[in-house]
This record gives sequence, structure tokens and C-alpha cells, in this order.
Amino acid sequence: MMGPAHSISGAAAWLSVGAVSAGLGHPMPWPTIVVGALICAGAALAPDLDHKAATISRAFGPISRGLCEIIDKLSFATYKKTRKPGDPVRQGGHRTLTHTWLWAVLMGAAASGLALVGGRWAVLVILFVHAVLAVEGLLWRQARVSSDILVWLLGATSAWVLADALDSTESGKAWLFTEPGQHYLWIGVPIVLGSIVHCIGDALTVSGCPVLWPIPIGRRRWYPLGPPKFMRFRAGSKVEVKVLTPVFFVIGGVGAAGALFFG
Ligand SMILES: [Zn+2]
Repeated sequence: MMGPAHSISGAAAWLSVGAVSAGLGHPMPWPTIVVGALICAGAALAPDLDHKAATISRAFGPISRGLCEIIDKLSFATYKKTRKPGDPVRQGGHRTLTHTWLWAVLMGAAASGLALVGGRWAVLVILFVHAVLAVEGLLWRQARVSSDILVWLLGATSAWVLADALDSTESGKAWLFTEPGQHYLWIGVPIVLGSIVHCIGDALTVSGCPVLWPIPIGRRRWYPLGPPKFMRFRAGSKVEVKVLTPVFFVIGGVGAAGALFFG
């Protein structure tokens, strides 16, 4: 899928989690709903950091371009090292390491650890990065024609305001993890969720997604999972833009209403 569909599905997934969580007796305060949706929308773009032309690889100028090259090399090396006889020989690392459940969990754990140690300042950095990604993802082509600096400013101001809102609600900092000393630990949850939602989105496209790696399936360790062929579509196709994206909007709306109503 392309940027906008990934971001919107990420936000919708978090809002649905908000509704389910409220139903289970762990309602999210509004800053947790908003901050989580923004982080999840941004995290739903992050796995494409293995692709030069992806939105995310252009989002932070030379920094993200350099990171993209490293991630691509790391992914390719991991693919070559761990492939089984049934996995085809390939040229680059796109849609491998960063498109797996294990990568999602590692990224989430890293973010939670950072937030636990660094507190509000770490959250501010995580929020800034994901806010920029969310803006790039949601506005996509529009953001590309405008200036990067404008998007960074928008990301920085929204990160500042939201981190403040989150910091000032005790329950917002301590959602799900309520023991003393666990503030902001939940920040990793929307990051894991966003990455997984990205993989599911890619699995629906023609090429599939090796989300289960390193668990082997038959003679392959990088089996590109997905639904039966007739249910798949091409990235950026009409189905994605005209059907799936509006469906994600509706799911997000229902989820947000549920999260606020039950809460
Ligand atoms: Zn992808």
C-alpha cells in the first residue's frame, strides 16, 4: 500500500484498540487516544525505511536517507544469511527484515525502554518523529510539494503540545501500565501495532509480506504471506484508494467514538 492508506489504517487500528480497551475496563484518556493514534499512523510508515523511494526515507533529508541505506544493507544481509533453499535469490532488502513481527516487537520495546528512561523528553522525540511521518503519510503528495521545514515545524509544534497534554494527565502517562515507575511504558504499543498493520496492508498486495520470519513455512523462511491471489490488489490501485482507505476512515471513526463513549 502507499503512504496515505498505511497511515490511515494505523490511526484506525489505534482508535479501535481504544474502543476495545475501554470496553475491557482500561479506558484511554483523550491525550492517550490522540498521541497513540498519531504515533501509530507514523509507525505504520516506518517499515518502508528499507526503500529509497518511500515517503519515510525522504522525510528527514540526509538523516533518513542515510538510515535508509543502512537498513537496506542490514535487511539484505539478514535475508541472505537466513534464507532457506525455497527462498528466491533477491537483489535488495525491501520488504524483508522490517516487514516482520519480530522487527515490530523490537521497535516497540526500544521505544518503551527509551520512554521509561528518558521520560517526557524521550516521548517528545518519539512524538516528533512520528508526527512528521504521520503528516507526510496523510498529506503525502501535498506534503512533498510544500517545504520539508514546514512539515518539521508542524511536527515539532504538535509534538510539544501533545507531550504537554499527556504529561499533565496522570492516567494518560500510566495507561495500561499503572505501577509506579512505569510512566510512558505504553508508548511501544502503538509502535508495534503500526508496524504490524503495515505488514498486513502489504500482505494484501500482489507481492505479499514475510511477516512470520524467522518462523519457517515449508522450504521457505521468508514466505510472503497474504490472502488468496484473487483477493489481492496492486499498491496504489483503485481498490486501495476508493474502497480500503474510506473503510479505514469509517473504522477509525467508529473506534474513536467507542473509545470516548465507553471511556
Ligand atoms: Zn511496506
